[in-house]
Amino acid sequence: MAFLDIHHLEKSFGAQRVVRDFNLGIEKGEFVSFLGPSGCGKTTVLRMVAGFETPSSGEIRIDGRDVTGIAANRRKIGMVFQAYALFPNLTVAQNIGFGLRIAGEGKAGIRARVAEMLELIGLPQLGGRYPFQLSGGQQQRVALARAIAVRPQVLLLDEPLSALDAKIRVSLRDEIRRIQRDLGITTIFVTHDQEEALSMSDRIVVMHQGVADQVGTPFEIYNRPATRFVAEFVGTLNLLDADLMEAASGRVRLGDVSVALNRVLPGRNGDRISLALRPETLALGRREGSDIILSGHVAEMNFLGSVIRIRVSIAGQFVSLDTFNQPDCPPPAVGTPVEVSLSGRDLLVM
Ligand code: ADP
Ligand code: MG
Repeated sequence: MAFLDIHHLEKSFGAQRVVRDFNLGIEKGEFVSFLGPSGCGKTTVLRMVAGFETPSSGEIRIDGRDVTGIAANRRKIGMVFQAYALFPNLTVAQNIGFGLRIAGEGKAGIRARVAEMLELIGLPQLGGRYPFQLSGGQQQRVALARAIAVRPQVLLLDEPLSALDAKIRVSLRDEIRRIQRDLGITTIFVTHDQEEALSMSDRIVVMHQGVADQVGTPFEIYNRPATRFVAEFVGTLNLLDADLMEAASGRVRLGDVSVALNRVLPGRNGDRISLALRPETLALGRREGSDIILSGHVAEMNFLGSVIRIRVSIAGQFVSLDTFNQPDCPPPAVGTPVEVSLSGRDLLVM
């Protein structure tokens, strides 16, 4: 049995089923993200784990103990929310020590633990400040320190970075992960940001309309999406329509090129099917080892700095691909005829 076990969890608000047959096991010390669009039920699952919301049915176990009917304050859970929920009238140190004081810990013990937490979040000098004297990123660090000061068994983070500026968001990702690893604390991190989930997680749960569509490592989720929703929601995806010529051998017609994918494809001969591929599996020009070459012209060119994203028009369809900037080799201008190389094995059939 996993450290945190969620079994057949369901939640309805009135007639609306918001969470449906949600199952998940999280190992001790694991960092798992819930990734999905707004309204898919991420917060609702988190609130049920925390004990702020009662499941319609199902079971939640932490370290072997069924906590489903147990009050939030007796579950040993630390939580951080999107909006800074610090107490405005308390100092940073008082905020961090709040839970310990409620738990009846002595003054000296609280002081030592608060100092340790301030050190952990890299703000050893700021214990005497008030929340309004801190930046957004500092406030979220303090919220994190407050959540873990009480030594919870499980840490729940509900979009803790969403309200911050892009640069701070990226640096706080690494910091949260460092602290989480140092403490070895089992963590659920909720986000609608795929890059955040991919870069931070041991495993990701991709949620869609209250259902866990796929659970896997970032590598698995990105490279082997289980559903079309996962494929489209996680990462950039090129979709190409093709005509299925021979399902048994995987022969398809893409524009005016006939391509053999050498695997059995779903559907019947003559069907219109959808092929998907990631931008980085495409190369501009003829690439050695690629078995498919398509001809087209540059429809758009976005110079992004280290990477150049090029949109190529191929027989009325479009694919995007990325090339690295090379200072001595300017990217092709819009309208330039180009060839695009790809490998049949990289094509996902949707
Ligand atoms: P997410 O966190 O993924 O954005 P939520 O879990 O907050 O999604 O919400 C999932 C769905 O449940 C939404 O349609 C939301 O409107 C609904 N919902 C959430 N909380 C309540 C509530 N207390 N009462 C009624 N509907 C709710
Ligand atoms: Mg939410």
